[in-house]
Amino acid sequence: MEHPLSVYNTLTRSKQTFVPINPPLVGMYVCGPTVYGDAHLGHARPAITFDLIFRYLKHLGYKVRYVRNITDVGHLENDADEGEDKIAKKARLEQIEPMEVVQYYTDRYHKNMEQLNVLSPSIEPRASGHIIEQTSMIESILKSGMAYESNGSIYFDVEKYNKKHHYGKLSGRVLEDLISNTRTLEGQDEKRNSFDFALWKKAQPEHIMRWPSPWSDGFPGWHLECSAMSARYLGNTFDIHGGGMDLLFPHHESEIAQSIAAHGSEPVKYWLHNNMITINGQKMGKSLGNFITLDEFFSGNHPALSQAYHPMTIRFFILQAHYRSTLDFSNEALQAAEKGLERLLNAWSKIHRLLPSGTSSFQVKTLQEKCEAAMNDDFNSPMVIAHLFEAVRWINAIHEGKEQLTQDDLKLLQDIFYLFAGEILGLVISDGTDSTSDLTEKLMEIIIELRQKARAAKDFATSDLIRDSLKNIGIQIRDTKNGVEWER
Ligand code: ZN
Repeated sequence: MEHPLSVYNTLTRSKQTFVPINPPLVGMYVCGPTVYGDAHLGHARPAITFDLIFRYLKHLGYKVRYVRNITDVGHLENDADEGEDKIAKKARLEQIEPMEVVQYYTDRYHKNMEQLNVLSPSIEPRASGHIIEQTSMIESILKSGMAYESNGSIYFDVEKYNKKHHYGKLSGRVLEDLISNTRTLEGQDEKRNSFDFALWKKAQPEHIMRWPSPWSDGFPGWHLECSAMSARYLGNTFDIHGGGMDLLFPHHESEIAQSIAAHGSEPVKYWLHNNMITINGQKMGKSLGNFITLDEFFSGNHPALSQAYHPMTIRFFILQAHYRSTLDFSNEALQAAEKGLERLLNAWSKIHRLLPSGTSSFQVKTLQEKCEAAMNDDFNSPMVIAHLFEAVRWINAIHEGKEQLTQDDLKLLQDIFYLFAGEILGLVISDGTDSTSDLTEKLMEIIIELRQKARAAKDFATSDLIRDSLKNIGIQIRDTKNGVEWER
């Protein structure tokens, strides 16, 4: 398959031509949520970034097996090896079963993803459903000598691994620096070194989520699930591993170490990471009062929000930045995105009503080439959007009778919008909303016809009433040479 797609690989710190291991198959693994609370912007960005990549790879003709996991066990507080399991803690506070917490927040996560028009992954495995894969991977790592048992728990021996391989190559860290930056071990600590990480933890008596293993009744370490499940569904070496930059270290770094120790091979060809989101220039955090869930964005029900934002506004806002750039959320920035999206969608709906001419003022074909070139340059969605706005200016100029396009070029322009704004950027309003807008379209036709009848009968009181009432609910109607048109 010939195409010049180039992707930025975090591992090599360079852009590389994308060549899958077994074309036309592409294996892609992305770290999914730990389901103990509502999804927020930090969940929306990787989901939308890798949805864009999933959609574009499929557009290029690849058969993509996209695996995005659900973490439902083993993710301890502070992402460390100590403290309570995040899900078990929630279950204890709510006095329900841990799996009730998992089900509740998984369902809510799925609903949010649907609202954001994020496609479902091909496989969505849960950590708790893959304990056997994880214990057998631990056995392989033990056999390689890169892990040790301590009091029923198994830890990865980072120092020993680092003698043969480089622990830190993904995140650019050096083990010697890690040693000087980490706390010294207390006498009773089970680990040989503080930077060693748990593959298996022996469960304390009060720990609810536990499974039998050769070493103890316990539970797997957080990093292990992704290594075990990606190998299970995509093989020991696969094409793309994605996630947020916050997962680079220690999570992804440890995934590489585990896989190399267990399988003797580099697990991932291309590591892709989306950058982080800030809110009004600050890191998002519960203590800062700027922790806003997606539901709160959609309802506007949060003191930091001046209004509700449609899920498509959030999606558009995220895609307006390149996935490797930082992105700062503010009401002003979101309102600007809302206006931009409205202009784009208004122009899109106008294409169908434009009248063709004998000649074309624009080279529509080059628009398609420019959009493709942008996507092939490490999925440059802001550049695609900039090109689509160029088309918006054309559409408005044609609409005002200043420029023209032939029937074929109008059709091509329509196809380009459908492909890039709809299929690839995923900006189509989801099915439920679509039928609402279809209905709105039909109702507006009826209202406009009634107004035309009133005017024809010189009943200006009625025609003005219709116009003013529509204006009151934010709908403007205009008489143009193409007939009566309306817009929100
Ligand atoms: Zn992961």
